[in-house]
Order: sequence, then C-alpha cells, then structure tokens
Amino acid sequence: MKTTTIGPNRLPVEAVQNCLRRGKTPFYLYDQGLIRKRCRLLQEMPNAFGVFPRYAMKANSTRAILQEIHAAGVGIDASSFNEVRRAEMAGIPLENMLLTTQEAPFGEDLDTLVTSIEQGLRYNICSQTQLENIAVRLAPEKRRFSIRVHPGVGSGESVTRNTGDKYSCFGVHLSDLPALLSRAHELGVVFDQVHVHIGSGGDPAVWEENIDRELGFVETYFPQATRVNFGGGFKEARMPHETAADVYKLGQTAKKKVEEFYEKTGRKLTTEVEPGNFLVANSGYLVTRVADIKQTGDQGFTFILLDGGMEVNLRPLLYGAQHPFYILDEHGTVRFDEFHTDQHCEEREDLIVVGRCCESGDSYTLQDDHAIVPRSMIRPRVGDTCIVGGVGAYCSSMTPFNYNSHEQISEYLLTERGECHCIRSRQRLEQIVQNEHSLPPA
Ligand SMILES: *Cc1c(COP(=O)(O)O)cnc(C)c1O
Repeated sequence: MKTTTIGPNRLPVEAVQNCLRRGKTPFYLYDQGLIRKRCRLLQEMPNAFGVFPRYAMKANSTRAILQEIHAAGVGIDASSFNEVRRAEMAGIPLENMLLTTQEAPFGEDLDTLVTSIEQGLRYNICSQTQLENIAVRLAPEKRRFSIRVHPGVGSGESVTRNTGDKYSCFGVHLSDLPALLSRAHELGVVFDQVHVHIGSGGDPAVWEENIDRELGFVETYFPQATRVNFGGGFKEARMPHETAADVYKLGQTAKKKVEEFYEKTGRKLTTEVEPGNFLVANSGYLVTRVADIKQTGDQGFTFILLDGGMEVNLRPLLYGAQHPFYILDEHGTVRFDEFHTDQHCEEREDLIVVGRCCESGDSYTLQDDHAIVPRSMIRPRVGDTCIVGGVGAYCSSMTPFNYNSHEQISEYLLTERGECHCIRSRQRLEQIVQNEHSLPPA
C-alpha cells in the first residue's frame, strides 16, 4: 500500500526521497513546520503575568536550528560559554541568552565571560565559586543575576537525567543558600530571578510539585526576584507507547500557583520555561540505509545493520531510549511505519537493529539495563531506507560522531515550502585528522 507520509507528524516521503537524491546516507532531516509549531505552543502556554520560553540549545546546536528558534521569538538557554559563543555566531544577541553552566572559568576565559555579561548575557549563578569569581569583577550596578537552586528533589526519564536529587550537583544546594546569600549581600548582588531545573523527561507530577517548592524559595530567600524559571524537561513521546507531558496543562498549573503567590505576597512573577526535547526531538529524522542482514544461528537472532548507529544517535546506548522505525523500499513505498503497524500485511518478525560501529552496544534495541530486546517489525531488505524518528534532540549535538573514523554527517531542513535545504555538509575525512601531527623525526 502506498502511503505518502510517515509517523504521527506526517513527514512527507517525497522529502526523504529528495534528500536521498542529494546526498548519501546517513543524514538528519528536520521538519521546520513542526519546530515552528512547537515554538508557538510554548509561547501560548497559559500564564499569570507573562511567560518567556527559552530553548535549551544543547539539545541541538546546529546554526540553522538556532536561527529558526530565535526567529520564532524564543530565547536561548546555554549550558556552556561555548554555546553562548556559538549562538552569537548564529546572529543571536547576548540579551536573549541565559547561561546556566557547571563551568567555573578563570584567567582569560573569565575575562571573556565577564565582558559578555557586561554586554547583556544573563548569568545563572550555580555555585559559590561562580558568585565569588564573577560578582567582584562587575561594576556594582551590573551585579544582577539569576540563581539556580538545587531543590533536593528531582525527576528524570532515567537516573542519568535526574538533575535535582543528591546524586547530581547542579545549582546551589538549599543547605548552602544561607552562606551564599550572606556573601551575595556583602557584594551587593541582586538575585532578580530564581531557577530550578529538576531533570529531563521526568514525571510531569513532580514538575508541578516543584513549582510550589520553587515559589517557596522565592518567598523565603529572594525578596528581589521578579522572574521565576521552572526549567525544561517536559517529557516527550517518541514511541507509540509513550505519553508526552501536556504542556498546556503544565502551564495551567503554573499559572494558578503563580496567581496564588501574588494573592499571598503581592508579587507578580514573570515565568520562564526552557525545554530542549519538546522543541526539537520529534522534528528530527535520521535517514539510514539497510546495509546488511545477518544471523547468529538457530538459537540466535536476526540482525538488521544500518549505516548509522551510536555515532549518530547515542540515546539507545546511553539511556536505553527507544526510537520509532520507518522503512521505505527503493521506490519510496512505505513498508513499515511504527505508528501504523496495522497497515502492513507483511508478517512481522523479532529483529535486532544495530549500527555499523565495532561495539556490541551499538544497537537500537537496548533497554536501560543494556539488555538487548528484539523489536517486532517487518524484515527490511538490504538497500531499503530505514528512517529513525525522534532524533531532533541530543543526537546531532551529543554523539561521538568520529568514532570508527566516521565523518560527522550532513543535516537537511525540510522547509515549510517543502524544499530540502542543506544546513550542514558532511564532514570530510581530512577534517577529522586536520589537527593531528606526525611523530617527530627520528
Ligand atoms: C538540559 C536542560 C534543559 C532541557 O531539558 P529537556 O529535557 O531537553 O527539556 C533545560 N534546562 C537546563 C538547565 C538543562 O540543563
């Protein structure tokens, strides 16, 4: 049966075919229309006294993606100073950025950071060292910061993505606040914003509970705060069995609590949210070619080998994350769509899908305990196109792409006009080795 789009967000097969004619697999393909829609949803979140969304740019830092999100009116949440510089190189003004980082620079790096803060970069204090190093370098009237508080409670889709419990050290822990505040007072520092980010993809109920906790901090410790940032971490659904957080509902809850806070204290707080996944995860597709099919004996499994695995999508290996598959034959006919499995008359089999790296963990079908679990799907043929969905966030920006000396792959944007636009070219092998030096002469 001929279908013309794949997946719940209806990516046109024609767009994939167009890109396939232009460059070799594997490559990423992003859906501009979906990114724009997600930006609007954030901006339309219910709120009490204004909401300012930011994009956690570590999710995907490619220039055109940053420009797209900036053009939509969404700010930037940077997690390193290099991210700030990269966003600046994409044409984004410093005033649009908040830097929330584990880095504590010194020397020349500190000088550059201080200059950027003087020029408008918003800085989120995450430690006593950061406060001490930076505040003294700024003129007294420039000593206005956001502060990230470690709430002692977090939630993430996996242990490694919980940023709010005692096993992670993001932000200033509550128990350190009194000491930090007295030092801040000596330095004449004003904290005009309070920030808490509890983790990635966690339980929406915990996200809502955090609002109460955070407003409690604002009331107890931060009389000068006029803004409150609730972090990102909205759970996104990549697979059919997953449920995404309802951002509208989270907004309603936040609105109600911020209104109650106003009634109680007379303080009107502007809110900020800063998701990464929510804005870009499902806009991204990894287009690969089925390179080979192998067997491990009668008692074993059937393996489908794709030409792109952990070096372009580390999430299965890192988190046990699952991604949907879409299979096209050479004519572009859809043979399998993870979200429309009822439409396929071919019989399904339990298959293991792997990448091309020499690493047995280079598999798409892992659980978070690293056990390999076969996926029920139709058996592709060598030469078919296998599209992996949900790769817009934490793939291009996070993978060990040069492992096994593979080149960093190209990226395309499917524009709202329906054109395939190359936003990053494939790296060349020479670029991988360009900074290497030979042995000294004997
Ligand atoms: C990573 C991160 C985010 C975004 O998390 P998502 O799960 O992608 O929404 C937001 N804020 C901070 C401080 C982060 O480190």
